[in-house]
Amino acid sequence: METILIVDDTKSNINILIELLSDDYDILACRDGQTAIEMAQEDKPDLILLDIMMPEMDGFEVCEKLKEDPTTKEIPIIFITAMSDEDSIEKAYDFGGSDYVTKPFRPKELKARVKRELQVVSLQKELKNLASTDSMTKLYNRRYFSQVSSHIFDLAKRDSQRLSLIMMDIDKFKTINDTYGHAVGDEVIIQTAEILKQHQRKSDIICRFGGEEFVILLPETDTNGASIVAQKIRQVIESTSIKVDNNINLNYTMSLGVTQVFLNEDKDIEKALLRADEALYKAKDNGRNCVVSL
Ligand code: GH3
Ligand code: MG
Ligand code: MG
Repeated sequence: METILIVDDTKSNINILIELLSDDYDILACRDGQTAIEMAQEDKPDLILLDIMMPEMDGFEVCEKLKEDPTTKEIPIIFITAMSDEDSIEKAYDFGGSDYVTKPFRPKELKARVKRELQVVSLQKELKNLASTDSMTKLYNRRYFSQVSSHIFDLAKRDSQRLSLIMMDIDKFKTINDTYGHAVGDEVIIQTAEILKQHQRKSDIICRFGGEEFVILLPETDTNGASIVAQKIRQVIESTSIKVDNNINLNYTMSLGVTQVFLNEDKDIEKALLRADEALYKAKDNGRNCVVSL
């Protein structure tokens, strides 16, 4: 259930809204602006219904503060207020409000507006997801990885933190496709992604880099640490089989290249990715199903 934060200094107004909305949504409520800001930061509601006239901090100021804070700026705000003059309405939108409802409101209309606002938010989230993930594996796509990895590179540089990369590619994948068909090939890619997710540590970023190629970015990890992770993945893949047509067990392997990002020498993350790719190429050259670190 989605969560709505109701902010109004008059308790009876809050009660009316709770009565109206609590069957369909989880409701949080408070009666002053400062508490509203704290609750928005803490509880991350999906929507805020905000009164304008309140003592100490008015609704406009609350809205302004929420929109300035990156952790709360995406939360849509519907103003619910007795102020119906055109200047107030204009101001509400100027301050970043999504919608404006005047008191006394029509209950059905308010409900519809709340519903629509939440639909917009969920569509936006879906779009964001679509843009950042690969639909087959639900891993991050290359585009998103580029953005995030260069950001993490900058942070690691700033904080002098170690950072490593594993680049990996399924061996003889073309043969799998040719022997068992494209659908089985897809199954192998999906299964590989699942194995990578199972071995993911909290801060690792995994990406489907290309067809049967994957990259993991490992913050706070040096070459040794990354090599251990890579070896583990190699072993698990080697010992996993996929059932094809109920009776054939398909086995496959993967080659992996490991490198630590040199935060001073590497101009950017792309430079380190090239080295990881070089290590992967060497692993292929060494006979596949192995890990090479550079
Ligand atoms: P190597 O051991 O050197 O990596 O050989 P390989 O056969 O794995 O590499 P190659 O690059 O020759 O072939 C990769 C194949 O992967 C070719 C391409 O058609 C196939 N492929 C790419 N994306 C997908 C996909 O999403 N699904 C399936 N089933 N096949 C894919
Ligand atoms: Mg009021
Ligand atoms: Mg391959």
